[in-house]
Amino acid sequence: MDTAAKDPISSETAPSVKPRVKQEADFIFHELTRSICPECKTVIDAQIIIRENKVYMRKRCPTHGWFEGIISSDAEMYVNSIKFNKPGTIPLEFSTEVKDGCPLDCGLCPEHKQHICLALIEVNTGCNLSCPICFANAGIGYSLTMEQVEGMLDRFVEIEGDPEVVQFSGGEPTIHPQLLDMIQAAQDRGIRQVMVNTNGVRMARDDKFLADLAKLDPVIYFQFDGLRPETYLTIRGEDLLELKLLALDRMNQAGLNVVLVAAIERGVNVDEVGAIVEFGIRHPAVKGVVLQPVTHVGRHIAFDPMERVTIPDVIHGIVDQTDGRFVLEDFVPVPCCFPTCQVNSYVFVDGEKVVPLPRLLDIDEYLDYITNRALPKAPNAAVVQKALEGLWSASAVAGTEKTAGQFQCACGPGMDLPYSMAHLKDHVFQIAIKDFMDAYTFNVKQVMKCCVAILVPDGRAIPFCAYNSVGYREEIREQLAREQARAQIIKIEAKIEGSIAPSE
Ligand code: SF4
Ligand code: SF4
Ligand code: SF4
Repeated sequence: MDTAAKDPISSETAPSVKPRVKQEADFIFHELTRSICPECKTVIDAQIIIRENKVYMRKRCPTHGWFEGIISSDAEMYVNSIKFNKPGTIPLEFSTEVKDGCPLDCGLCPEHKQHICLALIEVNTGCNLSCPICFANAGIGYSLTMEQVEGMLDRFVEIEGDPEVVQFSGGEPTIHPQLLDMIQAAQDRGIRQVMVNTNGVRMARDDKFLADLAKLDPVIYFQFDGLRPETYLTIRGEDLLELKLLALDRMNQAGLNVVLVAAIERGVNVDEVGAIVEFGIRHPAVKGVVLQPVTHVGRHIAFDPMERVTIPDVIHGIVDQTDGRFVLEDFVPVPCCFPTCQVNSYVFVDGEKVVPLPRLLDIDEYLDYITNRALPKAPNAAVVQKALEGLWSASAVAGTEKTAGQFQCACGPGMDLPYSMAHLKDHVFQIAIKDFMDAYTFNVKQVMKCCVAILVPDGRAIPFCAYNSVGYREEIREQLAREQARAQIIKIEAKIEGSIAPSE
């Protein structure tokens, strides 16, 4: 759809005859921020406006004209989330200088407002699938060396001191021949939690790989878009449902903890979000679900920026599709990043009993940083607040002892759950909804406080949405592919010289 052609609000497209009566605008001007042009990526001003209880970003590129896209289908939720904005934590070191302004100085540059809760290492660009929807645009590119990955892990430790979570991603990381060594290298450096982001194909087919992986016990961030074959046909290009279920059962037998990760697209699987949550709650290997509206970067199917899925669509979907199990208030914005980026919920699951944590205590009392500066007077209020901040963080990983402990702590004195930590580890279930930004929705205000970064071999850590939307991904992929090709040529030349040398 050509949204660049006209501005739905400005007088530029209004009839040339001026109205005699002043007219009320049909929108509320909420704020001014910075974004990028979806065509040329130039950094431009952007307005956030509210119309009919929905929030939109509109902006004008001097070369490509006006653009408008929806950023939230529920203005009330969007505006209310702002109170959950927590002061950031400054990282120990920055890797770039402030020069051209955000988002061109990544990173992290000294203007960044938050440390890294979750770091990703994309170990390769190759994949054993070729999905029509793939933000990483998997295909020919590069495969990192062990030396490069070790350097990136060392840099992560320097930047963070006490790093929380690293996630190996790709492409498809399980086809990298040294993935297991990389996981071990991260664990050897004391990084508290290692995750593997995977489509699960190798888990379904390779016994030895699965057994070796299980010994290292990373949490598996498992691509799982729904329970209908048609969903996979559209999003992944083939019916993968049986393979996904097989992989999941095999991971369960191997003792791995799994988080289901679903890409949600309009007209494809918005009506499956409730079923995905219910399925996850019942499957013994699954400790959480992450529901992600499709990010329209890399490879994606045709989309209308005015109709894209946003966080409230997913929340309403869960509430409407789970037979009264959830209410809107069970979903609370995450304060460590900008609170419009992610919402979380936690539930205690015991058989048919499913109790969302926000029903056990008033989370607003602890995580409203704008209107509620004083903590509630309850005994141990500071401890409860710290536990909740741990749970409502991008670094919270489902199925870990840390998360179970924080859940127990949040329930606080007087509400102590009469269960062992081992029991809680298996019965606390996480639901996260993350709305990564694309060129239509990219908001500098959010990315400046991003706590999810992609580590790069040259020592940079680039906020995830900047990496995908601004052009860093393409630039770094090209550079790494070129370096790899050069290294291979040098190796071949050395081999030829070596083979020639003895006969000379
Ligand atoms: S996103 Fe952060 S690191 Fe990147 S330029 Fe902006 S402030 Fe700097
Ligand atoms: S979305 Fe994942 S599984 Fe699909 S092609 Fe891209 S990297 Fe591979
Ligand atoms: S990755 Fe994007 S959506 Fe997530 S916290 Fe960072 S800026 Fe926000």
